[in-house]
Amino acid sequence: MTIQKISSFAAGAWISPGAGARSISSAITGVVIAEAGNDALDVQGMLDYGRIVGGPALRAMTFHDRARMLKALAAHISRHKQALYDISFDTGATQSDHLIDIDGGIGTMFVFASKGRREMPDAHIYLDGEVEQLSRNGTFLGQHVCTSLQGVAVHINAFNFPVWGMLEKLAPTLLAGVPAIVKPATSSCYVTEACVRIMIDSGILPAGAVQLISGGTGDLLDRLDMQDVVSFTGSARTALALRSAPNILENSVRFVAEQDSLNASILGPDAVPGTPEFDLFVKEVQREMTTKAGQKCTAIRRIMAPEDQVEAVIKALSARLTKTIVGNPRDPNVRMGALVSTAQKADVLAQAAIIGTEATRVFGDPDNFETLNADANKGAFVPPMLFHCEAPDTAQRVHDTEAFGPVSTIMGYRDLGHAIELINRGQGSLVASVITRDVDVARNVVLGAGAYHGRLYFNNRDSMKESTGHGSPLPHMVHGGPGRAGGGEEMGGIRGVMHYMQRTAIQGSPDILMAIGQQWVSGATEVRAPTHPFTRTFTELEIGETINTAAREITLDDIEHFAAFTGDNFYAHMNDEAAAANPFFPGRVAHGYLLLSFAAGLFVEPNPGPVLANTGLENLRFMKPAVAGDNIKVRLTVKKKTRRNDDYGEVRWHVTLTNQDDDLVAEYELLTMNEY
Ligand code: NAP
Repeated sequence: MTIQKISSFAAGAWISPGAGARSISSAITGVVIAEAGNDALDVQGMLDYGRIVGGPALRAMTFHDRARMLKALAAHISRHKQALYDISFDTGATQSDHLIDIDGGIGTMFVFASKGRREMPDAHIYLDGEVEQLSRNGTFLGQHVCTSLQGVAVHINAFNFPVWGMLEKLAPTLLAGVPAIVKPATSSCYVTEACVRIMIDSGILPAGAVQLISGGTGDLLDRLDMQDVVSFTGSARTALALRSAPNILENSVRFVAEQDSLNASILGPDAVPGTPEFDLFVKEVQREMTTKAGQKCTAIRRIMAPEDQVEAVIKALSARLTKTIVGNPRDPNVRMGALVSTAQKADVLAQAAIIGTEATRVFGDPDNFETLNADANKGAFVPPMLFHCEAPDTAQRVHDTEAFGPVSTIMGYRDLGHAIELINRGQGSLVASVITRDVDVARNVVLGAGAYHGRLYFNNRDSMKESTGHGSPLPHMVHGGPGRAGGGEEMGGIRGVMHYMQRTAIQGSPDILMAIGQQWVSGATEVRAPTHPFTRTFTELEIGETINTAAREITLDDIEHFAAFTGDNFYAHMNDEAAAANPFFPGRVAHGYLLLSFAAGLFVEPNPGPVLANTGLENLRFMKPAVAGDNIKVRLTVKKKTRRNDDYGEVRWHVTLTNQDDDLVAEYELLTMNEY
């Protein structure tokens, strides 16, 4: 059998393994299938290439350009995913595991592509929050902005998700405009390498945007500086060693850590046998124990059930685990494949033995189990193992020992407070789940355990059909956790992009802030529209362009007509005495919606033109009531423009309504779609 040479991709060239290469074995047969690593890899050259070639190319693109690039990349990988499935079996993963790793990674990239287009500007600077009023007259303002770091992101990944692990970090990094050097765990790096080849061959990425290290990183981390980021996923031990390296500490190199964690799942007090929640709990725990053969950072390591339900859970769970066919993941009947390597198997058995000092194994015997279509003595197979800890209060190791395999410990709790106490003994976890329909239980768990967890997942009969699973980190939601889990956060939508950007507080005049943020700021010098703005295309409109309309008087007839026409006969508009008794009104007032309609009548240009549609209105505030006899006028200003495609873009208009005394009556933002 030929041994595959797994290359690195450095400064635009594929570098084969060389001196110092490590061999990689199949998880199924134990036979060496590949080798990776090269001590002569020029890591300084890679950093330079990323900083000098990749970074500037990415930073020249806008967020939308990069989001489009991610979308194209995800679609391209998706077209080639079969090749990734084919080689992933050797990591011990089943076809359903591939869906989590490969399709999950692609899906994550699609979500970032779409969020980048919808939630970030078509620009180079991201505005964080609203303008802050720092002075009495508004001539000196503040705004937080985020700009791309000018270094390189080094992504160090764990072995369990060779594709998702890479793509969930790459998507926010590239969206931020930062090049990456990806370093997968050696034991499964052949899958990552194949995926990187697919990405590079697509020609979609600018040169230097993505480089790959298969094998060791040499002294790469000693060469990083304050513009670089390390984003690490792996064990707490490795994280500690890497994050405390003198260079990382001296230069305050950002270090995002996702570590192991002792995630728990609670069977709610209401979820007794016979309820859909009880069955759901057993199903979720079994799935979490066996998916990826338990090699998931989010897998359920500790199971908590009311003391009087422990036996019932052990019985039901054991019945399900009995049906979990272990064996060659290429066999479609197999439900659980192998651990990634025999070294990992030895580690899992050693950790399980530690758990066994405080708990009794009630299911699964590693010395006596069946494998389908595989030799249990050669591959890295273990059976699912369930332990029962009878004294969780005095136990320690069941709360701090991660056996990174299909191993979980059940323990009983007396009441919800006790359950919360026990889950928090994980000292910081990625996720905890609670299967309950009792809303008070859910709220109390958030109050008692939120501070110890990066994610809390509640499920019951109402959500179970559509729920995404205890163990699935989602690109929209943060993934990470405090303490033992590493103290880092990834993803969480645009929050994840910010790990690769610097937030800077900008202070200055309205004109300065408007030029930086590319959006109109109150107090900025008014830009006179040369013609009615509704006659101007998206491209022609200038940020800050303003029209002031003529005034229109509101009459009592208008109010009554509007009330009769719409059926809105609310007393504040119809009954002078009752309205005056209300603390907000002097007497009968005009309907707010009447004012908005009059405003539209004042500012629209009626003829067909580049304004295609009114798509919404946001942040509406009525500040001062308008009464019959008041004169209302409108100021309309182009606040922000967002290109949507080659044909049209969204224009956000700032609109104010003022009365004859120039008092602010209403304020809002109007959205229109305008021809490009
Ligand atoms: P690991 O042994 O800590 O390795 C993690 C990564 O660090 C690998 O890529 C490894 O490369 C690399 N590495 C090790 N020493 C290094 C060094 N001196 N310099 C640079 N890189 C170095 O963890 P693992 O065994 O791959 O993964 C299993 C662990 O990861 C479990 O504990 C699991 O809970 C955790 N995990 C956490 C998450 C999460 O999101 N929180 C996700 C998945 C896994 P080599 O393989 O080449 O040594």
